[in-house]
Amino acid sequence: MDALLCVAIAAGALVLGVLVGLRRGRRPEEATPEPAPAAPDPTVADLLERVFRETDEGLAVLNRSGDVVLHNPRAAELGVVRGGQADARAATASQQVLLSGSPVDVDLSPLDHRGRQPAAVMAHVRPLGEGYSMIEAADTSEAVRLEATRRDFVANVSHELKTPVGAIGLLAEAVLDAADDPAEVRRFGTKILNEANRLGNLVTELIALSRLTGAERLPELQVVDVDEVVQEALSRCRLSAESAGIEIIVDRPSGLQVDGDLTLLVTALSNLVENAINYSPADSAVSVSRRRCGKWVEIAVTDRGIGIAPEHQQRVFERFFRVDPARSRATGGTGLGLAIVKHVCANHGGEVRLWSSPGTGSTFTMRLPAHAAQDPAPAAASDPGTAAPTSRPADVPDRVG
Ligand code: ADP
Repeated sequence: MDALLCVAIAAGALVLGVLVGLRRGRRPEEATPEPAPAAPDPTVADLLERVFRETDEGLAVLNRSGDVVLHNPRAAELGVVRGGQADARAATASQQVLLSGSPVDVDLSPLDHRGRQPAAVMAHVRPLGEGYSMIEAADTSEAVRLEATRRDFVANVSHELKTPVGAIGLLAEAVLDAADDPAEVRRFGTKILNEANRLGNLVTELIALSRLTGAERLPELQVVDVDEVVQEALSRCRLSAESAGIEIIVDRPSGLQVDGDLTLLVTALSNLVENAINYSPADSAVSVSRRRCGKWVEIAVTDRGIGIAPEHQQRVFERFFRVDPARSRATGGTGLGLAIVKHVCANHGGEVRLWSSPGTGSTFTMRLPAHAAQDPAPAAASDPGTAAPTSRPADVPDRVG
């Protein structure tokens, strides 16, 4: 009986132990949540304080002695308030506002710009009454940068237009002076034609670029056959290739498709092929190839020409940037070709990549999203014989083609 009692006590203790263990081992999410005390609704003053703290503008309030009585963290980030003191220019503007009673704008851009500080800060200072003024400051770096780019662009365009226009004027005078000499008239006449063509190209490319950069809506995207783009671009470049003694080697048709605008894609690819011709020695070869790479279609143009030094590889896509301006002009270049390629690719949701090595050559690759309905792995994509060189040196073929 004693033994039975012992077993019963032991069993009871075990059950209790298991129950306690279970209770202790319970995961926190299983615990019954204590009802959180209801947070009181924020007052209007609380909300105002939050707005003041969170706004993107740097805000500071100054008293009539120029002391900062209130400022938000953004005002410190923008350098309006440093170590509890207002920027000297802001303090002067505040005094002026208190005297005149009218708001003023003041430039608070850092005098020694470095690190994460914005490059340009503009502030509006207004009277708040009773000897207080308020400074509202904003980071205007992006607007200043855009304005500088616009100014540079206008200056560059004016310069680029002036050169051929000036040349045409001088050549026309030369024609008039040589009116009795048919050989000279022909010589100058040919030069006038070249300059007029250069002017025409420049205007055409400027219009293309302004369309691409959003001045006009892009045409509706269509399903475009990549082979048609390649064929059209090559037929545009055939004459210049022949006169430069360059052989163009092209891979087999791929059947690949992209969503895009045929005219723009042909313009972009022709720009790349024209460049490959212009920056290669006579008797060399230029290859054009296409392939599927995951969800991308790549069209690559490889040359064995002068190549581009690493420090210039980013800059060649900027408008009017040329590594060698004299060479670019001699080939009738406008300095806009690669900027157009970059924008065409970007507007198609793609990009242009460059691999280049001075003295070895360059590969420019247009990467465009493949047309969605296409088989992800068409035969041409896996055929190593037709694979395009990509932007890696190892992929540039020893023999082009
Ligand atoms: P450009 O009308 O001067 O050719 P682009 O915008 O097409 O203008 O090219 C910008 C510059 O990039 C060229 O002036 C040239 O210096 C360089 N560049 C472009 N393509 C090539 C290439 N295939 N090989 C070497 N340099 C090139």
